Amino acid sequence: MIHRFFLGLVAGIAGISAAVGAMAADESSYAATDFTHVRKFDAHVHANTEDHHFLDIAAKDGFELLSINVDYPDFPKLEKQAQVAHTLQAADPKRFHYLTTFSMKGFESPNWTADTIRHIDAEIARGAVGVKVWKNVGMVERDSQHHLIMLDDRRFDGVMNHLEAEHIPLVAHQAEPRNCWLPLDQMTTENDRSYFRDHPEYYMYLHPQMPSYESLMAARDRFVARHPKLIFVGAHMASLEWSVDVLAKFLDSYPNASVDLAARMTQVQYQSHADREKVRQFFLKYQDRLLYGTDLTEDPPDPRQRAQNPPSDGTPFEVEADKFWRSDWLYLATPGVQHIDAIKADVKGLALPKSVIDKVYYSNARRVFRRLPQ
Ligand SMILES: [Zn+2]
Repeated sequence: MIHRFFLGLVAGIAGISAAVGAMAADESSYAATDFTHVRKFDAHVHANTEDHHFLDIAAKDGFELLSINVDYPDFPKLEKQAQVAHTLQAADPKRFHYLTTFSMKGFESPNWTADTIRHIDAEIARGAVGVKVWKNVGMVERDSQHHLIMLDDRRFDGVMNHLEAEHIPLVAHQAEPRNCWLPLDQMTTENDRSYFRDHPEYYMYLHPQMPSYESLMAARDRFVARHPKLIFVGAHMASLEWSVDVLAKFLDSYPNASVDLAARMTQVQYQSHADREKVRQFFLKYQDRLLYGTDLTEDPPDPRQRAQNPPSDGTPFEVEADKFWRSDWLYLATPGVQHIDAIKADVKGLALPKSVIDKVYYSNARRVFRRLPQ
């Protein structure tokens, strides 16, 4: 029985070597040195401790944080995650924001829908700005008939119609990177290859009895189509990280959808290393639909804890977070070149125009999560 999944895959943080070229930006794009003073929003992090490391480095680097509560067995219990979110939000309500989530326990009971709506509404009243649904829907949770519960299951309708009517955004992480269904030698990134080599239990290529990548994407698409007014955010590039062409089709098909970039930057870099202009044009065309995010995760210090992202090697979390954020900035905002170990390549930055960076890094998240305090 597969019951534990890695969260979102480390996006090759350990593989970021020093920048090999800090080229001057042209006047329409930012420079590496603009990083700290431009306002930024990381729309996908997990703060699971009440200490202030995450908030401190976010303040230093000019980020607001959207911390996502998630029904993930390697994370602290949902009640504890909520408590941490309440504490950090009270400490810095302008910088720290959070999404609530719901438990699948009792999904088939007659009270599940009403109880879940009550829970969501209580968290929204407390300051949550949206709801997360995780890939346990589609890949882990089974009903009493032992069928996997998919996102387009009609038994979600009551809760999802409520989110739609109340304009409560849903951040949805379904499936895995497509690499998870491919043979090792066909995977596009080293971080996926080494992860799935080391974790055969999560490697879907080895579990043909589990749903295919395509069937999980199709269930998700049916769900989005059925809720055309739902504010929908596909986490991790809606698991379409492997092709900006396919992701473009998804965004064209579902005007209510946006995606976050969390933990998939190496996949973007893989594509831009092959065709930089194509990826750049994708960002220009969909500049209103893309939300910067990382999946940076700070968990309670515990040697058995598997969920820390980047994995803890003794380096303080804030040092790793700062390195991670600066690498992404160099890539998206500037023309600087850096070596990305996960794809074994020197990758040139996209040097997106300042106005696009301001949207992807800030104002898109502010528009999508309309309950954010001003
Ligand atoms: Zn995540």
